[in-house]
Amino acid sequence: MAGGAYWAMMKRIVIAAAVIDVAGIVLFVSLGSPFLAAVNVASVVLYVVAWHLLQRRHNRIAVALIWLEVLVHSAAASLLIGWSSGFHYFLLMFIPAIVVGAPRRWALPMVGVLLLFYGGLHTVCQALGPLRPLQPWALAVAHGVNVVQIFWLFYAMTAYYRSTVLQAERRLLAAATTDPLTGLDNRSQFHARAATELAQCKRRGEPATLLLADVDFFKRINDEHGHDAGDKVLVRLAALMREDLREGDVLARWGGEEFLALLPSANSTGAAVVAERIRQAVAALRIDIGGQALQVTMSFGLASVSGLDELQQAIGRADQALYRSKHEGRDRVSTAPEPS
Ligand code: GH3
Ligand code: MG
Ligand code: MG
Repeated sequence: MAGGAYWAMMKRIVIAAAVIDVAGIVLFVSLGSPFLAAVNVASVVLYVVAWHLLQRRHNRIAVALIWLEVLVHSAAASLLIGWSSGFHYFLLMFIPAIVVGAPRRWALPMVGVLLLFYGGLHTVCQALGPLRPLQPWALAVAHGVNVVQIFWLFYAMTAYYRSTVLQAERRLLAAATTDPLTGLDNRSQFHARAATELAQCKRRGEPATLLLADVDFFKRINDEHGHDAGDKVLVRLAALMREDLREGDVLARWGGEEFLALLPSANSTGAAVVAERIRQAVAALRIDIGGQALQVTMSFGLASVSGLDELQQAIGRADQALYRSKHEGRDRVSTAPEPS
């Protein structure tokens, strides 16, 4: 939670709080409460110090100062002009901050301590009455200003937490469905998308074909140029295949240097044309490895697939066709016979 974005947000909050407190100085002077104006001056000084600490990445001290400011400010203002000024609302901001930021087992005890502080402050305020009371109209203005600030602060805080959660969710989803090296779908995502595509093909009475592709003599590339060079080749080939296939085609990194594609609405003849086009494009590709233009080839195996229940067998037949391509000399396309 406390990454760079969090501290950037913290700095923005500190600036906003300081600006609001400067406005508060003017407000409280005009409402006839020089004491509260003086509290605001102290607050502005504290926020300036906290901002400088955040700039220098002394984040813990900065946060402690901000907490101190909110605690003292709300307590002092409540004691000076009364509980009904609404300054105690600011203490409630600690609840989400504690739950999100504090270690889990400390969260509930800390909220409990906050509740005690809140209740204690309320009791003292009621017992003493306002030490420097304001005119009723001025008290109403202070209360209104505080309520508006609290609404805005809760909005900003929850919007930030929401965007953080959504971002984490997007990252997790991407990590669970994509291959980190090539950015292609991984196996489980292939199955999920293939299920949808195959169901559609079945409904429309259209064929579908699997295309299994494997880099020829890939081990040599690793051995002669290093693993990073091998990775670079895989990334380039993945991009080439993704560009060459249609948007509706499903493409996944199936294994180390194997790629599996599902071509919906394509029969074996159509898929063979696609595979041949990719084969030629790969053979024509020159990949720069340390100033050397590396040339690679790929072998292909095709098999028609009639539905999800038959996917596993179809992959097996595509694998056999690929094996034939390898056996017959590589850099070629073979199609599996239709299942009997
Ligand atoms: P063939 O033409 O018969 O396919 O030969 P090949 O060398 O391509 O096949 P083999 O299965 O013997 O070698 C595959 C190699 O791919 C072995 C493995 O170390 C390498 N490999 C698997 N995953 C990765 C990866 O993510 N990055 C790199 N650089 N290499 C990988
Ligand atoms: Mg290979
Ligand atoms: Mg292989």
